[in-house]
Amino acid sequence: MTQTPTQAAPVITPADKSMDDIVALCKRRGFVFPASEIYGGINGFWDYGPLGIELKNNLRDRWWRDMVTCPPDGPDGRPLDIVGLDSAIIQNPKVWEASGHLAGFADPMRKCQKCGHFVREDQLWEILATNSKWFDDLLQQFTPHTGEIDTLRLMEWAKRKGKKYAPNLALVRNPEVTMSWFAQRINGQPDAPPDVQELVRYLATEQLHATGLQEPCPLCGGELGDAQPFKLMFESYAGLTQTEDSKVYLRPETAQGIFTNYKNVLDTMRVKMPFGIAQVGKSFRNEVTPRNYIFRSREFEQMEMEWFCHPDEAKQWYEFWVQQRHDWWVSVGVNPANLIRREHDCDELAHYSTACADIEYQYPFTAPGYGELEGIAHRGDYDLSKHQEHARLKLEYFDQQRKEAGEPEDKFRYMPHVIEPAAGLTRGMLVLLCEAYTPDDSRPSKVFMKFDPSMAPIKAAIFPLVNKDGMPEKAEELYRQLRKRWAVQMDVKQNIGKRYARMDEAGTPYCFTIDSDSLADDTVTVRDRDTAGQQRINISQVEQYLADRIDGV
Ligand code: ATP
Repeated sequence: MTQTPTQAAPVITPADKSMDDIVALCKRRGFVFPASEIYGGINGFWDYGPLGIELKNNLRDRWWRDMVTCPPDGPDGRPLDIVGLDSAIIQNPKVWEASGHLAGFADPMRKCQKCGHFVREDQLWEILATNSKWFDDLLQQFTPHTGEIDTLRLMEWAKRKGKKYAPNLALVRNPEVTMSWFAQRINGQPDAPPDVQELVRYLATEQLHATGLQEPCPLCGGELGDAQPFKLMFESYAGLTQTEDSKVYLRPETAQGIFTNYKNVLDTMRVKMPFGIAQVGKSFRNEVTPRNYIFRSREFEQMEMEWFCHPDEAKQWYEFWVQQRHDWWVSVGVNPANLIRREHDCDELAHYSTACADIEYQYPFTAPGYGELEGIAHRGDYDLSKHQEHARLKLEYFDQQRKEAGEPEDKFRYMPHVIEPAAGLTRGMLVLLCEAYTPDDSRPSKVFMKFDPSMAPIKAAIFPLVNKDGMPEKAEELYRQLRKRWAVQMDVKQNIGKRYARMDEAGTPYCFTIDSDSLADDTVTVRDRDTAGQQRINISQVEQYLADRIDGV
């Protein structure tokens, strides 16, 4: 075998990556397209192109393999038992009544009194910081950490840029009065370092004595009204009549279909506590502000598993699953340096939950901060108890073996507790895309997608060096052999450099080139995506070469 010198792949962090560039590559290479693009798109919906669906399926299949077909061993070294399910997207509305979604699944929204724009209350400051033109510009007018505030500069800003970008901000509408509130704030506490949020509240407030400090609209700077609940479930009707009685909902999570089938699974499968039921599928949420590409969309996919166990063991299982799920993301190619585990504070927890941890990733749009990728919740017996009550059906677990062993009643008759690892499949795909995106100026493509080989949408490309002299025929023979096992592509167009560049952007880990030597000695060139290094191997070794590197991981 001959080997050409390899080059080291550059190290790059999420903060160095541009989301615009990632989105452009995904469009250019057929990973993700805006839904109904030819009609101008539709906010919060995305279509997954030929490479996107392969990547998504790879992630889904790996999850299924590692959660259902071959779950990890438990803390005692014994194999865990998890079964799969595929429940309907539309269920009897009573399911959502019992689960609490009909009454409580809503976001607190505030409406701008001036321009009518809606903003989610708990995201206001995040949206101001990342998505508000005027806020960004205003911040540059003062340097809060040093405490320096140039009143004249702010007045000047109000008259010019403010008028254009934030016409409804108090500072812009009534600069003199607003600045006098502001001056009082500064004079009142000359030594305390001013806090940006508080300063901006002053600048958004015209009549402090009448209204209290205001929070401004990210769009126009106007005053925001009180928070009102905004229901997140999409509604439709089942059947011919379209009345309240025929109203149905698109599921906002896959989990409830698992709880409603808990008894069916117990009655039909030989599962024993503890065990899990897993499901992958579409969920729908009428998100108020779908944003950050496929991070928050209105139609998305989830991979959820409900782990049922004895209440006394739930805490231990919770710890187990948080660790497992973190390690799983690392196993599909996510750099652990870009992941954190964030334990929810008490005031973030649902009233029935005793613990919840998020596995968060440093997305380019959150860096240096993090955003949720997967949540692992200790849900207690909330869901089963609610369905027991609403469906009037006994859902307690009875453990014959423990009874016969003479254990006390609370050990053999109980309502199971549930640990729920809930991951976003489409959000996970975004993580793989962000993680793989690797700018590299030394290549013709200037970028390559460094997917873990097992996740790559195309596993290998086969190129005849030229489209004649028997090379295409030999290439096709190899192509036909490999496509029986993996997603591979044969490409005969353009010069070899352009073909490599295309595969670099698709994230194809290996390219095999058939040249004139191949015809003489049955060898091919393998090019490695990450190093751009090349070596020659015998054509009969190609399948094993790929198997070792793709299926072996
Ligand atoms: P958030 O707080 O971001 O709205 P959540 O905590 O309500 O999310 P869960 O109900 O726990 O999310 O859903 C589990 C997982 O489903 C999330 O960790 C995320 O990966 C994914 N997910 C939730 N909402 C969306 C969405 N609108 N678009 C894409 N993925 C989503």
